[in-house]
Amino acid sequence: MKNKKIERCTFCNKEFNNFKTSIELKTRTERLTVQHTWEKIGNLDIQNRELLCEDCFNKFLTAFKIAVNDNISSTENNNIIEEETKEDV
Ligand SMILES: [Zn+2]
Repeated sequence: MKNKKIERCTFCNKEFNNFKTSIELKTRTERLTVQHTWEKIGNLDIQNRELLCEDCFNKFLTAFKIAVNDNISSTENNNIIEEETKEDV
């Protein structure tokens, strides 16, 4: 009898039935010291791996796009937003 490994979405715990998408997030934060060197802050390092079903991955992409657009709109770079809006129509 084959022991089939069941993999589930790490967000919604749903069993994969078509796609699974692996997302790996790694951040590294360093602080500028008075000697003008970079000091690593280990506590702020994040390494995260998520395995998402198609639905959750689409939600992730949408949330990410909104976050990035919010960030752009807070700067003076309005040209990029106008171009992206045209593509969405
Ligand atoms: Zn999911």
